[in-house]
Amino acid sequence: MNIGNTVLEMLKDEVTEVEYDRFIKQLNYNARSSKSDIAIFDAPNQLVANWIKTRYTQKLEQLFELKTSFRVVVKIQAKKGKTGSVKNSATTQTSSSENIRQNTLNPSYTFENFITGASNQFAYSAAKSVSQKPGEIYNPLFLYGGVGLGKTHLMQAIGNTVINHGKNIIYTTVEQFLNDFTRHLHNNNMDSFKSKYRQCDLLLIDDVQFLSNKIQTQEEFFHTFEELRNSGKQIVMTSDKPPKKITGLEQRLQSRFEWGLVTDIQPPELETKIAIIKKKCEINRVTLDNDVINYIATVIDNNTREIEGILSKLHAYAQLMHQDITLDFTKNVLREQLQEKQNSVDIDSILKTVAHELNVKPSEIRSKNRSRIVVYARRVAIYLTRELTQLSMPQIAQYFGMKDHTAVSHTMKKINSLFENDEEFKIKIDELYNKISSSKRN
Ligand code: ADP
Ligand code: MG
Repeated sequence: MNIGNTVLEMLKDEVTEVEYDRFIKQLNYNARSSKSDIAIFDAPNQLVANWIKTRYTQKLEQLFELKTSFRVVVKIQAKKGKTGSVKNSATTQTSSSENIRQNTLNPSYTFENFITGASNQFAYSAAKSVSQKPGEIYNPLFLYGGVGLGKTHLMQAIGNTVINHGKNIIYTTVEQFLNDFTRHLHNNNMDSFKSKYRQCDLLLIDDVQFLSNKIQTQEEFFHTFEELRNSGKQIVMTSDKPPKKITGLEQRLQSRFEWGLVTDIQPPELETKIAIIKKKCEINRVTLDNDVINYIATVIDNNTREIEGILSKLHAYAQLMHQDITLDFTKNVLREQLQEKQNSVDIDSILKTVAHELNVKPSEIRSKNRSRIVVYARRVAIYLTRELTQLSMPQIAQYFGMKDHTAVSHTMKKINSLFENDEEFKIKIDELYNKISSSKRN
């Protein structure tokens, strides 16, 4: 059995039978396109791909790591030809690592598919200008704003435009940049790292807030930045906050990030949200009545990222239950999701409760303190955060001042093994878990 199928088998034990039969079963490991550090799975269409992507990517990556002891990036892709996308040609070749990187551009993240309103008009116009004259106007372009407001979409829209002009582009997250750096360093191959990044015409680097406190990555990124910019190559960055607010960011980087144009994206107005949902329906070929669309727009807060998840859920349920997607049906399907959201806990209150219970200071938990009790408290807090919030491993790592997400997954493994051997420990954690989740509900 190949590694992909082995991992899928392992996943089977970790999800419910229903989840497995409905979704995971539809995945096929694409051995031909996968590489030693990238595992590609094909899903029958974009909806199923999105559904699986948001829920199981991290789990799959953990299972790969468990099985091979290497870190592998998992990609879930829809089989070609199912979406209305125009740029599939950019993603059909998979032979070189160059193309793998280009693959990470979502072909539906285009300017055409981006809905504008007062909240994002300026950022949109700036991105559009940059895509037309890369390296000539705003360099770097720095987009910031809250989660799900379309930063990655806009950034990739620049990429999708520029790629069509035959330019060489790299889209990367800070995390991938660091992985790439470490791998090349490890293989004694720094020249190839340098030339790879420095030969691109457009560097898109997503979520640069994760540079926070990563001295070595900052150092390497600084040199890449300098060389690209000095040779007139375009750099685009996104972040959840403006450069000034990124803690532990070297002064020289902060000031360079502000050299070009720094612009924010605000939460969308209701009409913009409605238009975004309509656009997503169109792209994913889902038909919804206006009352259903309006209802979704009011329940999703500002995080537009939830839309695709909601659409795939509705679509899947409606198909399985042979029902139309009426407003009542929608409310029923989303009830569980809303409940979850109301009950979700914020990381600060987890920190506070754990610190209080274990008699350490919250600041100690977030520090590099290695004393036994603090390490213990940190582990517990990380475990509970992972269980009780929607935060990703890199986000958790950053909050607790850890190096990267592997430290978090290591902690999770550690706690799980403690569970197996120590009944009392498990009871204690359960107690804390209930305490935190019920305090939120009252
Ligand atoms: P961010 O990077 O800011 O967290 P994303 O770019 O990932 O957010 O956007 C989340 C989802 O919402 C994506 O599917 C994106 O296409 C969609 N989206 C956000 N804003 C818009 C918009 N103005 N028009 C169309 N889709 C949008
Ligand atoms: Mg993003």
